[in-house]
Amino acid sequence: MDSNHKSLPDGTCEYHRPPADDSNSDSQSYYDKHDTVFGRILRGELPAITLAESTRLLAIQDLKPRAPLHALIIPKGFVGSVFDVTGDDQEWMEEMKSMALDLVQAQHPQAFAKGDYRLCFHIPPFNSVNHLHLHVLAPASTMGIYYKYVKYLPGTRWCIEMDEVMTRLQQHMSPVPYQRPPMCPPQTQDMTAAAATTIPNQAKSSSCQSEEKEKDSC
Ligand SMILES: [Zn+2]
Repeated sequence: MDSNHKSLPDGTCEYHRPPADDSNSDSQSYYDKHDTVFGRILRGELPAITLAESTRLLAIQDLKPRAPLHALIIPKGFVGSVFDVTGDDQEWMEEMKSMALDLVQAQHPQAFAKGDYRLCFHIPPFNSVNHLHLHVLAPASTMGIYYKYVKYLPGTRWCIEMDEVMTRLQQHMSPVPYQRPPMCPPQTQDMTAAAATTIPNQAKSSSCQSEEKEKDSC
């Protein structure tokens, strides 16, 4: 699987270093000004355990891992939730999947070989942070019952498999087979303009943001 991202050694909690000036170059313009825990991690205001990184994506360890590998992969440009991804996002979604599979393969090769992993998104209003994050869980068979059969169970109103989202986008369908809840308005920014605009407290006013559980980083 193609991967131009670097995998980083596990276990170190550190401050992400955003580019010194994020207003000039393309690669720098993906940095998020949004006021969520992930925006703060991207800007180096909160530490996180970084597992992999590319120009467009950052993979960090979940604060409360529910499997031996529990990574969160976030786009550096702001994307509110799985409701906000479109056909234009397929390229970085592919990269997100590739980064996820590389992490599973590197850390749990047997789980990778058996397909014993989950790549899924929570669907608003059942998301914890209003910044799209892919949950990467492996080996899935070791997860606790509640997490395996409830919280991270794709095919429910609250959780959807990454592959299903990608298939739906390829077929020019909406990313999720549900209506967007009225309390979760569209929240996207052009990935290339992410750094140019600040959306102060927009997410805070949404009840999608109400339980920002993954608050502290590591
Ligand atoms: Zn989640």
